Amino acid sequence: NSEHDQEHALLFPFMAQGHIIPFIELAKLIHHRRRCTVTVVSTPANVRALTSSFPSTPTFRLVPLPFDPTHHSLPSTSESSDTLPTHLFSRLLHASLSLRPAFSALLSDILSSSAAPSRLCVISDVFTSWATEVADALGAHHAVFTTCGGYGTTAYFSLWQHLPHARTDAEEFSVPGFPDSFRLRRSQLSSYIREADGADEWSAVLRPAIATSLESKSMLCNSVEEVETTGLRLLRNYTGLCVYAVGPLLPFQGDKKSSYMRAGKAHGISVDACLEWLDAHPPNSVLYISFGSQNTISARQMMELAKGIEASGKAFIWVIRPPVEFDIGGEFQKEWLPEGFEERARQHARGLLVRDWAPQLEILSHASTGAFLSHCGWNSALESLSRGVPLIGWPLASEQFYNSMMLEEELGVCVEVARGKEVVVPGEEVERVVREVMGEERGAEMRRRAAGVRGLLEEAMREGDGEAKGSSLRAIDEFLEVALSGKSE
Ligand code: UDP
Repeated sequence: NSEHDQEHALLFPFMAQGHIIPFIELAKLIHHRRRCTVTVVSTPANVRALTSSFPSTPTFRLVPLPFDPTHHSLPSTSESSDTLPTHLFSRLLHASLSLRPAFSALLSDILSSSAAPSRLCVISDVFTSWATEVADALGAHHAVFTTCGGYGTTAYFSLWQHLPHARTDAEEFSVPGFPDSFRLRRSQLSSYIREADGADEWSAVLRPAIATSLESKSMLCNSVEEVETTGLRLLRNYTGLCVYAVGPLLPFQGDKKSSYMRAGKAHGISVDACLEWLDAHPPNSVLYISFGSQNTISARQMMELAKGIEASGKAFIWVIRPPVEFDIGGEFQKEWLPEGFEERARQHARGLLVRDWAPQLEILSHASTGAFLSHCGWNSALESLSRGVPLIGWPLASEQFYNSMMLEEELGVCVEVARGKEVVVPGEEVERVVREVMGEERGAEMRRRAAGVRGLLEEAMREGDGEAKGSSLRAIDEFLEVALSGKSE
């Protein structure tokens, strides 16, 4: 028993790998620092997948809320965004609202049980922020955890709340909450925001979710004070909330057999097979390519990307998901890649093609990995920098466009090669950027900068007393004092 065993933190991630992964890490961090009870809720299939890596204990619990995707015209196996074609994401967002009665009942049960906690804090996702309303109504403390960075969260909130691009015909426009000198171009908006007019299906769910997030008592952010100083300042100014930067929350590494989120899934590759392949290559020589857990590019873009990588002569690991025009669960098809590409890649171990899911952090941790061609999802960006690996940006959706820009312009650790799923990207351009980022001039400078960021990320999580304690550990401890001991903010 600990002095905090009467306290309870209840976490509710949105159903997407890029949300579930950092939420689980936040749950583990809270459990580790506080020794209180921690519960993570999700839908049944997500809880089953997580349970194989994190079996429930009396103080670390995974609790399913009943959910049937078919009631929402979703495929029966789709309880998270990685198993959905992109045009159905907004349906999953709408469907998640149906979890409210079950969540409310769970909270009431916890609060009225004979072992009711002395204090309960609900930590919701931005997309499940209605859970903070439920907590508020029942007298529990609450906070929102944004799995994006400070800069990306501010840009995303402001764009959806103000739709500044819808008020002008100009190609460039300013964004409320940012300095006047800051201008965004239309091409930097994801297609959903670009087409949004406030009456669309995305606005219908995102705008209330953002508004409710702004009503929460405080916000946790998967970022680091010393790395995102400007971004976190913008977020604090924009939201008016007390923001605790508690990152980097990186995925669990340890199960050497398979990537834990995908235990039991037929696709993918074992960690050992991947690491063995990397062992055969010299340091910094391999390009890792992945567009995250839910996005993919067009077939034409995939062709040009393949041509460019091949022409660069660099070794690569490429996580392939079917291009946008193809069935997400469909079999691998030869139209996706130039003829003979895979066979040539296999020769002399030049390239490794992995279907759907690879052990990303393990790949980034290997000395042979020299750069990461990424969609700049915030988790991917943090994971890459935590291992000192520079990025080639190809943002596709949500706040990835702003992440890519910040990584390039502010941190100097990224070169953007393309934007979005529609643009034509000639193979020659891919080749040029790959050579640059993996080369000896700009590449070496980017690796030096990425190593600097890595140092800051590590320091933020350093154990110690007083000032010696890293900024993110100080922030989570302060947050927990407020959320679970009732100390005032
Ligand atoms: N991921 C992985 N293997 C893959 C694809 C993704 O391990 O093949 C993990 C990745 O390490 C990260 C998360 O899934 O933790 C993706 O989050 P991110 O924010 O980068 O992108 P999203 O998938 O949300 O677009």
